[in-house]
Amino acid sequence: SKRARLDRYLAKALQIPRKQVRLLLMSGKVEVDGQLAKDMDLLIDEFNTISCDGRVLQACSPRYFMVHKPVGVVSATKDDEHKTVLELLPEAERSGLHIVGRLDLNTSGLLLLTNDSRWSEALMQPGAHVSKEYLVTLGNPLTEEYAPAFAAGMYFSFEDITTAPARLEMLDSHIARVVLTEGKYHQIKRMFGRFRNPVVALHRSRVGGLSLDENLAPGQWRALTEDEVQLAL
Ligand code: URA
Repeated sequence: SKRARLDRYLAKALQIPRKQVRLLLMSGKVEVDGQLAKDMDLLIDEFNTISCDGRVLQACSPRYFMVHKPVGVVSATKDDEHKTVLELLPEAERSGLHIVGRLDLNTSGLLLLTNDSRWSEALMQPGAHVSKEYLVTLGNPLTEEYAPAFAAGMYFSFEDITTAPARLEMLDSHIARVVLTEGKYHQIKRMFGRFRNPVVALHRSRVGGLSLDENLAPGQWRALTEDEVQLAL
C-alpha cells in the first residue's frame, strides 16, 4: 500500500501550510490509531486512523457540491462584508473547498464547489469551452437585434477582446436565455449595456452538462452524484 509522511498528509487533508502542521503536531492534537503523534516523519497508510482534535480525518477524498447562490452572497471563501458561498455549507463540509468560477454579488444560480483542483481546472480552462447558461431579466424590452449581435461577438476596447459567439434566445419581452462559452468580467451586463439595456436580474441555470437542481432553494446546496461529476465536463 502507498505510504505518506504524516505532515504531508495533514497539510493536504486540512488544507493548511506545512508550518501550521508542525505546530499542530507539537500541540499534541494529532493521534494516529489512538496514540499521540508528534513525529512529522511518521509514515502512514490507508489503514491508519488519523484524528485531529478528536475528529477522524478522511483521506482527502474528492468532494463536489452544487450551491444555489442567492443574490447578496459573495463568490469568495473569505469576505469581511458579505456572507460567502462557502458559509452556506456547514462548517464540517467546508475544509479545502474552492469555488469553480465566480458569479457577481447580485447574480444568483448554479455555483460549484470542490476540493478537486484537476476537475475545476478542466472545467474552467478557456480551451474547454464549457457552456454556461443564464436567465437574464432586462429593464427594457428586447428586440430582434440582440441575437445577431450576441452571435457575432462584441468588441470591448478596455481589454481589447472580442467576445466568442454567444446564443441569445428571447423567452419573453424582458427575459432572455443566454449561453456563453467564456466568462469575461461582468460579461452579460456589459453585453446588454451595448443596447443601453440594464440587467435587472441575472441567474445561472447551467454549467456544462450540469443544471441547477430545481429542488434547491436559494442558499441550499447538495453533493453532486458520481454521474454529475462526469457530466459537468
Ligand atoms: N455575467 C455577468 O455580468 N455577471 C455574472 O455574474 C456572470 C456573467
